[in-house]
Order: sequence, then C-alpha cells, then structure tokens
Amino acid sequence: MKYTHAAFDKAQQELAQRRDSAEAEYRTRLEEVSANVPEIISLTNSLKNTNFELLKIIGRQKGEVKGIIAQIRDKNLNTQRTIKELLKTCGYPEDYLEYTYYCPDCKDTGYKEGERCHCFTGLLKKYTAEELNENCHIELHDFSEFRLDFYPESVSNGMSPRERMKTVYSNCKEYAEKFREDSPSLFFFGRTGLGKTFLSSCIANELVQKGYSVVFGSILKLFRKIEDEHFGRTQGDTLDVIENADLVILDDLGSEFQTSFTDSVLYEIVNERINLGKPTIISTNLSPNEYSARYNERIISRLTGCFSPIMFMGEDIRHVKLKNNL
Ligand SMILES: [Zn+2]
Repeated sequence: MKYTHAAFDKAQQELAQRRDSAEAEYRTRLEEVSANVPEIISLTNSLKNTNFELLKIIGRQKGEVKGIIAQIRDKNLNTQRTIKELLKTCGYPEDYLEYTYYCPDCKDTGYKEGERCHCFTGLLKKYTAEELNENCHIELHDFSEFRLDFYPESVSNGMSPRERMKTVYSNCKEYAEKFREDSPSLFFFGRTGLGKTFLSSCIANELVQKGYSVVFGSILKLFRKIEDEHFGRTQGDTLDVIENADLVILDDLGSEFQTSFTDSVLYEIVNERINLGKPTIISTNLSPNEYSARYNERIISRLTGCFSPIMFMGEDIRHVKLKNNL
C-alpha cells in the first residue's frame, strides 16, 4: 500500500512524541527515586557509561573484544539486578525505572530488525485514511447524541420502530466497542432520514479515536475521486487506501451516477475486502427490490452472502424535527 508524504510526516511526528513521553516519564521517575534513594544515581550512571566503554574497545584485537564485551555485560546485569532489589526494598515496583514504551516491540522507533514495525504501519494507514476523509466532509458524531425519541413507539407492520431502533443502536454500539480487524461486514438499509449515516459516523468516530484506520465517505464522492484518479485527472490512490483500511464505510449506495465503471469499482472494493477478511459497512436508501434490480448478480451475491443486514425503521428524522420544532 502506498502512503502519502503527509501521512509519513504525521506518523513520524507521533512516534517522536511517543519517544519523548517515554523519556519524560523515565526522567520524572528517576528524579523522584533519586530524591528518596540517592544510591540510584550512581547505579543508573554506571549503566549509561556502558556505551562509552563499548566505544573505547573499537579497534582492539578480535579475541580481546569478546572477553571485554562479556565482562561489560556481566557488570551491567549485576547493576540492573542491584537497581531492582534497591527499588523493591524502598517500596517501588522493580521495573519502576524501565522505559514504558507505547510499543515495546520497536521501542517506539518504528522499526524492528530493519523492517517497519506494525505500530508504524498502523499510523501510516490511519493518517492516509484521515486525509481521504478530510476530502469527504462527513461530520462525525458520538453515540451519546443518538435520540431514540425521534422514532415512533406505535407499532406499524407488526413492529415498533422505536423498539427496532433500540436494537439497531445497541448492535452498532457493540460493534464499535468490540471491533476487530476481522469483524463482520454490515449492510444498513431503510428509507432516507432514519439515522444510517448518523450511526455510521458514530462507529467511525469511536474507531478513529481507538487508532484504527477508517475510511468514511459517500459513495458518490469516493467513486468520483477514484474515477478522476483512474482517468488521470487528479493524483491519488483512493482505491488502494479503501482496500487496505481497517474499516470502510460506504455511505448512500445508489447515489452514485451508475456506469459500468462504478459497478466494477464497487465489486472490486467489496470483493477485495472480503478476500482480505476486512470489514465494510455499506448503507443504502434503496429497498431490497430496488437494489436487486439496479446491481448485477455478482455484486448482489456478495452483498447478500457476506454482509449482515441491519434494517432501519421510522419516519424521516428531518420531518419529525420540523413537526416538533426541534
Ligand atoms: Zn512498534
């Protein structure tokens, strides 16, 4: 997957911030311990001096070097042990003076054994997706803003919309809470103005805050962008970003100007993400009859076979708000 320069800059800045805060945390703890246990200062200094001792042996005979390194290592291990014991005796946890890295795998350097660490890749994906979302301008919301009282309580077609939406709401909340990179794909359907985009934005918001890479945009805008890039009118890798994000939310299926190109893009996205085992949320105002008539068999079989359907019910919330002067 290709990442933008801006995403690289932001990811590197975040790694640097993580290193700085690990360093700051270490310094605070060291100062605190030093005030109570002054012996700690000379012990931690002796550990730091190891680097200089190692530098001094550069240029010595090979046979000699091995022995000196072993000596330094033993001395180091001893010092570390003494520090731990001293800390314990003075009532501190024995790892109190170890660095607390955000990612212990790479010690917040972003690289492990010469390869990019998973934490760095995660940040790159997150910032690349964020950049794409900025172009799509969908407002993000919080689950706490959801209003069940916008949905009628009275039963129609054998079901109370309010009861139905209570279930939909808790399903969406649970989905965001328990999200994993292999969570199921969801298909939101129901008439316009029932809160599909709203609840999608709550899921997106919660996952972005947890650090996942989430692409969230209207199909119309995303497909227009992919088309412009495909025909060389603008630069970018929107399709690549969409295929690789942790979660993709394609809002308002059916609003796109449908061509054989948009159909093939839709199929490619859905199919590729299914093959990669990654979740996608698609919402539509179209009824099952309408979307079955509109899209080809390949797309429909993917949507019906690999997505969990979630039906939204009620009255258009904009009308409810107008009626009640809200
Ligand atoms: Zn890492």
